[in-house]
Amino acid sequence: MVSVNKWFSDFHVLKDIDLTVKSGERVVICGPSGSGKSTVVRCINRLETHQKGSIRIYGSEVTERPEDLRGDVGMVFQQFNLFPHLSVLENLTLGPMKSRGLSRAEAEDRARRYLERVKIPEQADKRPGQLSGGQQQRVAIARSLCMEPKVMLFDEPTSALDPEMISEVLDVMVELAEEGMTMIVVTHEMGFARKVADKMVFMDAGEIVETGAPAEFFGNPKSRRCQTFLSQIL
Ligand code: ATP
Ligand code: MG
Repeated sequence: MVSVNKWFSDFHVLKDIDLTVKSGERVVICGPSGSGKSTVVRCINRLETHQKGSIRIYGSEVTERPEDLRGDVGMVFQQFNLFPHLSVLENLTLGPMKSRGLSRAEAEDRARRYLERVKIPEQADKRPGQLSGGQQQRVAIARSLCMEPKVMLFDEPTSALDPEMISEVLDVMVELAEEGMTMIVVTHEMGFARKVADKMVFMDAGEIVETGAPAEFFGNPKSRRCQTFLSQIL
């Protein structure tokens, strides 16, 4: 899916990143701060452009037809990025009405279905500021799901949350994985990674240093850099 080089002026931030994500696969990306994890997911979602290489999702070239693929990729950020002046329901119906052509009634039906799914149906009429961080992040996940994406990208979705709210968000993500969603998740929540990842990816200094199935990755990391990283976070 990704084989990419990117420079921020003369800083080579992504170096020959080659990452294939198959339909239904869950990939967890980890690595030290500044290693390029967010830049990778932002390139996949076209929030950043890369200068060399290609990004493909199910055979379609993102670089050629970004407008077609944009809606196929859902993204959840560390900061929830909800519209503060809109209700939860309005946050969820906006995208489907604007870019999927749904009527208000259809969009609201769909929104309530996904609010059920993230276990906060009773919060539909509140504003984001009236919710806890964990609830806001679940709204953000529901908002992405309302666009019915083929792939969900998560960039450190729990790192802005108080510890007691992390598991309610991870639980929703685990369920999503169990339902077969294709997911690319940047996280240091290694319990989550062991549970859902088909593939672990370790990045350092703009490179993919190591990839592997979780059992092998955690049990027997091969590179020194990955060993050091895991010993610091586990
Ligand atoms: P973290 O774990 O802290 O989120 P990360 O692995 O997500 O880190 P990136 O945000 O992808 O790292 O950043 C990779 C490198 O690119 C860093 O050195 C960062 O300073 C640099 N960088 C990121 N965005 C820009 C930008 N817009 N212009 C210039 N340099 C940037
Ligand atoms: Mg980041």
